[in-house]
Amino acid sequence: MIPFNQPHVSGKEEQYLKETFTSKKFAGDGKFTRLCHNYFAEKFGFNKCLLTTSCSSALDMSAILLDIDSGDEVIIPSYSFVTTANAFALRGANIVFADSKTSNPNIDETSIESLVTTKTKAIVLVHYAGIACDMDKIMQLRNDYNLYVVEDAAQAIDSYYKGQPLGSFGDLATFSFHETKNIQCGEGGLLVINNSNFYKRAEIIREKGTNRSQFFRGEIDKYGWVDVGSSFLPSEILAAFLYGQLEYLEEIQKMRIKIWNTYYDYFKKHLRDIKIPDPPDFATNNGHLFYLICSNEDERARLIEYLRENGIKAVFHYLSLHKSHFFQGKHDGRELYNSDFYSNCLLRLPLYYDLTENQVEFIGDCIKKFYNKN
Ligand SMILES: *Cc1c(COP(=O)(O)O)cnc(C)c1O
Repeated sequence: MIPFNQPHVSGKEEQYLKETFTSKKFAGDGKFTRLCHNYFAEKFGFNKCLLTTSCSSALDMSAILLDIDSGDEVIIPSYSFVTTANAFALRGANIVFADSKTSNPNIDETSIESLVTTKTKAIVLVHYAGIACDMDKIMQLRNDYNLYVVEDAAQAIDSYYKGQPLGSFGDLATFSFHETKNIQCGEGGLLVINNSNFYKRAEIIREKGTNRSQFFRGEIDKYGWVDVGSSFLPSEILAAFLYGQLEYLEEIQKMRIKIWNTYYDYFKKHLRDIKIPDPPDFATNNGHLFYLICSNEDERARLIEYLRENGIKAVFHYLSLHKSHFFQGKHDGRELYNSDFYSNCLLRLPLYYDLTENQVEFIGDCIKKFYNKN
């Protein structure tokens, strides 16, 4: 069976894990956490970033940092993972769901302005499949209406908008190192703080609402409870594993992009009528995810089954959040056609470091056979 995902291990992870055993430093914010922070600062120019236990916890931290309160409105794409919205719902926000674009599942930036009210506090966007949203337009709205922008860049490591790394635009940005992402440590995440007003408080919220980080830097002589917060920092075990991955980031990216391009070329050559990702000129592709768009939900179900019979695991993705069980009775009734369309028709194909070119061709051939007989 060709699985949908298979986490890649570089070999360095084990060595660094052993080092945590030898040093007996297992709690967070030690050597490996610092190495990871420095890596992100140097590679992507992020001024301030903090490892977290997941992208979801980085989103939780974002909602606390923005002081999201009941009555605040937050604009979020309906086609996203649950925690993009959940972090803000947890603080009592009214979630205003936006539709996706016709050209790709990213938030339709042209639809945002009509959703802004005097209560709107933030726009949360998702760079779906690591392909950039239209950041110039979104940052313009931020400035025009005095809003915050949070980039859910969970899938967007090492991807760029007009040459600038994703995660460096919003007031805050969040990354995931879940094992399904390009770079992983099982469960892990990163909060990037681009708005310097949040530097100090971010550290406190991450350290259970205490100023312990300042204490460890010798800036104060005792630490205590100064704000709300929780335990958002990962152990050195996770940081050590992650650092082992980061040292291979370029190699991992090269391989994933190569696989992505093999799919792309196959479809362009043999399956020209099928809709596949088409990154806009301003965006890069980081090889996170390759999808195709079926004509309808029934066709997608039949294709999934056909691929399964041929030993290939392909999976659909998000279900419109505005139609979720939790959101029953909370949505304002607007139809979000594109979000529903991707919920019903988008299909993700296997993509992982160790997937071979032959396997990609085999998957392509199976899809071709399916469409020829249908
Ligand atoms: C994976 C993902 C998340 C959640 O990441 P975790 O690290 O598992 O919390 C959130 N948003 C998006 C868009 C994702 O792809």
